[in-house]
Amino acid sequence: MENNSDSQKLIDANNELDKVSKMLVRRDRELSLVKEQALQVDELKSEFVSTVAHQLRTPLAGNKWILSMLSHGEVGPVNEEQKAFLVKVYNSNERMVTLVSELLDIDRVTTNRIKYTFVEADIFTLINKALAELSPSVEMKGIRIFVEGRDSGIPKVFIDADKIAAVLQNLIDNATKYTLGSGDVIIKVEKNDGHVKLSVKDNGIGIPKNVQNKIFTLFYRAPNATQVEIDGSGAGLYLSKKILNKHGTDIWFESEEGKGSTFYVTLPTKPFKGVA
Ligand code: ADP
Repeated sequence: MENNSDSQKLIDANNELDKVSKMLVRRDRELSLVKEQALQVDELKSEFVSTVAHQLRTPLAGNKWILSMLSHGEVGPVNEEQKAFLVKVYNSNERMVTLVSELLDIDRVTTNRIKYTFVEADIFTLINKALAELSPSVEMKGIRIFVEGRDSGIPKVFIDADKIAAVLQNLIDNATKYTLGSGDVIIKVEKNDGHVKLSVKDNGIGIPKNVQNKIFTLFYRAPNATQVEIDGSGAGLYLSKKILNKHGTDIWFESEEGKGSTFYVTLPTKPFKGVA
């Protein structure tokens, strides 16, 4: 008797197990289907963004060329007032160009379609390149830029040079753009535990404490930056963080509102093998 009821229990438990495992298989199939659909939607979105962005690029490049010719008087004389308007339109066009290329970068980063090529590079060569591309307004504002650490035996870094150049450009641009009047920007390079640590320090508007945790969020801009109407899209630091994480390193900052900010990045001195 005892034996019979035990075996019945076993049979029931087995049946139950069978039901549960069938249900799990069904759920698994449903989940795969949903995942596949999500991937398809993602691909469509990505295709849309990239088509729109590429189509916007061509007319913007054309505008840039025409506006430059017009403002330089190459099509006919322009007076100072007309020139000032043309320069304004030129600058807006430039902002659109930047936005469109940021849009493409964001899409490539979020869909993991950016290819990384790691090479041995000299960090000071990259800094010099970034400095050569600074906007003329930096000098006009009276901002001085110092580079420290050149003679301290800094090792070579293993990086994707174009992408790290974009990160440096962004940090230096921010340091100069968020300094309202004149000021000093200090770029410092140090050796740091198997890494090279680079910092960009400014004495600009700083970042309020209560929003510091949002600074690397895509499209986030601090209220003190938007209040003074400094141009920006809030994409640069988001992209920078993604790029550094792909190098197995990071970016962070210290800042005090009204006093200034220091952004830090670390760069690997050996090829990064991990999957970030
Ligand atoms: P953008 O400068 O185009 O707005 P970023 O992603 O580079 O975008 O920066 C995000 C936000 O972080 C900025 O809008 C600004 O509020 C703040 N920020 C970045 N760098 C600085 C800096 N050096 N000084 C003060 N605020 C900064």
